[in-house]
Amino acid sequence: MLIIIVGMKCAMKGCMQTVGFLLDMDGVIYRGNELIPGADEFISRLRQQEIPFRFLTNNSQRTRRDVALKLRRLGLHATEDEVFTCAMATARFLASQKPRGTAYVIGENGLAAALHLNGYTVVDDDADYVVVGEGRTLTFEMIERGVRLVERGARLIATNPDATCPTDAGIRPGCGAIVAMIEKATGREAFSVGKPSGVMMRMAQRELGVRSHETIMVGDTMETDVLGGVGMGYQTVLVLSGHTTMEHLHKYAYRPDWIIDSVAQMPEQLFRPLVELAV
Ligand SMILES: [Mg+2]
Repeated sequence: MLIIIVGMKCAMKGCMQTVGFLLDMDGVIYRGNELIPGADEFISRLRQQEIPFRFLTNNSQRTRRDVALKLRRLGLHATEDEVFTCAMATARFLASQKPRGTAYVIGENGLAAALHLNGYTVVDDDADYVVVGEGRTLTFEMIERGVRLVERGARLIATNPDATCPTDAGIRPGCGAIVAMIEKATGREAFSVGKPSGVMMRMAQRELGVRSHETIMVGDTMETDVLGGVGMGYQTVLVLSGHTTMEHLHKYAYRPDWIIDSVAQMPEQLFRPLVELAV
């Protein structure tokens, strides 16, 4: 069966909007401490057209309120309800797997706060889960404790699989690199909740209130944003304003539906309802 996606104008005034955007942030909305040119106009247009969207991040360090404040300080109007982090996805996932459980956390405030908010208690011993996120306060003692808890039966969870994290000065080890130490030492593989996992993608999509083929994932990373979107059956848009260049694309067996320089060049078709036709 061949699926063709075509854009259709919504002829009736007041008819339901049927697209929604999931927007990666670093490399898409901002780079370091600077907004990407055109990002504010793009967000304003989504608001004007009442197109639902979420800022989606695989960084678990900050709470959604902290992320919204960062966006506002960069000059972009944003509310905390518009932010969806992998820390939130991880906490909600664990609350659904084992309500009111316990977790030993190797990460920062955004992760611990999300776990608390979802009924979890953060502990140092007898943990149901060892949960690993991003952070710069990591010590070898924390890794050692994590390894021993996993050896004693705690389940190993990663907020996201990213091996590196971009900073102004260059990359630093990300959650994927940190959790790899515990995986190697214990021989257990972590379950990762953030992009490209369908767990996080589906939770964020549900907040948009649109169906899979009406969801547009915009990102600058093939391994997380585009791969996650492809797996979910979303429209995928790769922006070249982050760390992926056209020369990188031959390495991947999958491709995005759209490749654009930045969100300032978002194709017109994607602002209109998308209709899935089976022929
Ligand atoms: Mg990015």
